[in-house]
Amino acid sequence: MTQLPLRAQLASALGRSAATLSRMTGRGDGSVIGGRVGLLLEPDLLRQLARDRKLALVSATNGKTTTTRLITSALLELGEVATNAFGANMPAGHVSALSQHKGAPYGVLEVDEKYLPEVLNTTGAGVMCLMNLSRDQMDRAAEIWLLAQKWRRALSGKPTHVIANCDDPLVTWGASTAAKVTWVAGGQRWKEDSWCCPECGGPLDRKDADWACRECTFHRPEPQWSLDDDSAIDPRGQRWRLDIQLPGQANRSNAVMALAVAEAFGMPVERALPRLREVTSVAGRYTTVERDGRQARLLLSKNPAGWLEAFDVADPQLPIILSVNAQGPDGRDTSWLWDVDYRILRGRPVFVTGERRLDLALRLEVAEVPFTLCRTFTEALAMQPPGRVDVIANYTAFQLIRSEFGRAV
Ligand SMILES: [Zn+2]
Repeated sequence: MTQLPLRAQLASALGRSAATLSRMTGRGDGSVIGGRVGLLLEPDLLRQLARDRKLALVSATNGKTTTTRLITSALLELGEVATNAFGANMPAGHVSALSQHKGAPYGVLEVDEKYLPEVLNTTGAGVMCLMNLSRDQMDRAAEIWLLAQKWRRALSGKPTHVIANCDDPLVTWGASTAAKVTWVAGGQRWKEDSWCCPECGGPLDRKDADWACRECTFHRPEPQWSLDDDSAIDPRGQRWRLDIQLPGQANRSNAVMALAVAEAFGMPVERALPRLREVTSVAGRYTTVERDGRQARLLLSKNPAGWLEAFDVADPQLPIILSVNAQGPDGRDTSWLWDVDYRILRGRPVFVTGERRLDLALRLEVAEVPFTLCRTFTEALAMQPPGRVDVIANYTAFQLIRSEFGRAV
């Protein structure tokens, strides 16, 4: 790799020192502050750090962190990979990730949906992976449509190879200005944000996985890759049993996307797939914490589509604890609770906690789902019989449970 200019070297080094200092003083993992310091000293730092590397950007409303981890795991077969493993998914986090692995020839960066055009323009990434777009907290369909439109503009005229989920009409629209697209039939559980054609506003007709606009020519492209139950079908029609350890259909979909991205880096399925199977948990998601003979499996869900994915993973035979907060990162408004259909929880013991447990309680009451209200997560856990229990928590509620259990997972 070519040497960084002196100013960029200095900015990168000072950023790393700031990150170390931040970690030592217990202020977090330092990945954001380090990148901020670096960018302050050299605003062009991200571009310079990205130069000469083979980069993949990963974006979606849900599954970014997990898919980034899966792709990273696969590409490690090829060499050192720089990645923002802790979900610091804005430019400061990207600077930090790349400057911590100065010599890495590969980079896999999780990118916040809103920052995707900026990060693509700055890094000139060769590969981009787009999985799904849906309302997040207080977003509504119009806002995510604007987001997809910005993706289209950013991709237009660039050589970037996009790997995109063609089962999501909005993602398809957002990706379709790219010079090269590999379409993956990755499935779409949440359809509430894609009943209208993003091209003309007409109604979308759906038949099984297929969809097409009734009023214009916009339709689902023919996929090269598909997810079929527990198998990936590659562009040659060969079927591969995924057999990954991460649970649920959403993760199997993420795995097929990761295989398609790995292939874009020249890596065959037989080399990439064993690497995906090694991933067991991602930043605490799907890990099990234990206290007094109760094993609680932690599922994170940050928005309505994420709740559906968590319901798919949760075991219907087990009791379930739900924890909802409404701090800054969660969104203060909990009206999104009304977008989620909770009736699937009928018939299992449900325990409700978190700062906004009363909001959730009202929602469950209306859905006619019986529940027990608990002041704290610890209290909810203590009410369980010994054995397994599933926990679904939104962002800060999830982090709180993790820190209470010492992050020993
Ligand atoms: Zn249309």
